[in-house]
Amino acid sequence: MLYEFKVSDLADEFGVHRNTIRNWISAGTLPAQKAPGRKYSIKWKEYNALCEKFGRQPKVWPETENDIPPVEKVESHSPDLAPVALGSLSRELYDDPSYADTCLACGSCASACPITGVDGLDPRKIIRMAFLGLGEELLTSDWMWKCTLCAKCEEACPMDMNIVGLIYGLRARCDRDKVPDGLQRGVVTCLERGNNMGIPKEDFLELLTEIGNELAEESCPGFKVPIDMRGARLLMTVNSKDPFAEPDNLKFLWKILHAAGETWTIPADNWEGVNWGFFSGDDKAMKTIVSRIVDNARRLNCQTILLPECGHAYYATRMGLEKWYPEVLEEFEIFSVLDLLVEYIEAGKIKLDGTRQKKITTYQDPCNYGRKSLDAFGVGYFEEGRLITKTCCQDFVEMTPNRYGNYCCGAGGGLWTTQYSAERVFYGRVKARQIKETGAKIVITPCHTCRDQINESLNHEFDLGIEVKYLWEIVSDALVAPGK
Ligand code: SF4
Ligand code: SF4
Repeated sequence: MLYEFKVSDLADEFGVHRNTIRNWISAGTLPAQKAPGRKYSIKWKEYNALCEKFGRQPKVWPETENDIPPVEKVESHSPDLAPVALGSLSRELYDDPSYADTCLACGSCASACPITGVDGLDPRKIIRMAFLGLGEELLTSDWMWKCTLCAKCEEACPMDMNIVGLIYGLRARCDRDKVPDGLQRGVVTCLERGNNMGIPKEDFLELLTEIGNELAEESCPGFKVPIDMRGARLLMTVNSKDPFAEPDNLKFLWKILHAAGETWTIPADNWEGVNWGFFSGDDKAMKTIVSRIVDNARRLNCQTILLPECGHAYYATRMGLEKWYPEVLEEFEIFSVLDLLVEYIEAGKIKLDGTRQKKITTYQDPCNYGRKSLDAFGVGYFEEGRLITKTCCQDFVEMTPNRYGNYCCGAGGGLWTTQYSAERVFYGRVKARQIKETGAKIVITPCHTCRDQINESLNHEFDLGIEVKYLWEIVSDALVAPGK
């Protein structure tokens, strides 16, 4: 039993000054601890010893056994409820059975996840359900499609659990007719027609020629889009969203390649860089799409594969090469767009004027280039984007948190193309807050998804009034024409 007292009350009880009691506490003569309400507490045994020393009767006594009411036994009202047993599916959902003992059920993952609680989604719950063999129940939920695969939960996990791998495994086990329609259609179209949007070859080539001619007239005399050019150094892919909806975006990177005197080529067939097999959990589709890039690099005798520049497409292609085509990593030089831009800047292949852009800029770290890339490949792109941005812009501020700890834009994992737009915007509230707090006027990012989510959605939903630019767009803006 503990005896709780206020200093003034105990001083009265023992007929001493309040400071005497305080001195006894600080000297340890009175081994009392601070308690709520400006009180102290002391074990009754110690209090009784003090009373004996001063020849006093204790004011309070511990309750006897007879004073304590017996604990009532609670009868189960659910006699039919069977205990949950570890089922066979539990092993299919995670690689290592020791994981079941490794997870502490501490909930750090759930605290870190910006959509914990939305429609019952909770990474800790998903982990426990998988261990308990509740795979069927997990598969009837739609949690795996609302998760952005951002790995923020893994960052928080003290036990290094592979939470995203488990959620990806759920996506992979879903019947294909349960995959969100937009995603599944993109995958099927890409497999059947060579690109997600189903753009016919003639239209694609015509459009590229047109855009190339415009660029030649605007700022790059003599420019021609190199299609199927054998022996070029770089093999490039195209994000089908650009020729389909925003063809002018293609000019940013082309202008830089032209200024650097690069030899590069875009294949006439199977030019798609986007890989939605990664989103839909379809390894077979993902492998086919990666294999097309490898085939084109070999057919055109290129030296370097420029990994597709969208965050997920970069990650999926690199993952696919490591998993299914490891020999390609030796056969070709593998570059991300960040590697390429840093090479151009450091080797002086392009000249940039960093005084043109005077607005405050900030940088959005895409999960796939940063946190996830570091964990999966040992290469995290954090400083490259900052070096490039700071070279092109005068006034740079960081978001908080950033780099490894940054939050997803809210549209990762394919959410941009699914019906879960309310969840996407809800997740994005964190990104909107981060951006607002910087006071920046421009957000720079090397990812199509981050750019679209911030520019097309969060900007309006959260009244950000912000410009969003691709990393290569800001380089293109700062480019000093060769010879000037
Ligand atoms: S943070 Fe890690 S250890 Fe804690 S509940 Fe989540 S998965 Fe388990
Ligand atoms: S990957 Fe991201 S969205 Fe998915 S559970 Fe983890 S923190 Fe939440």
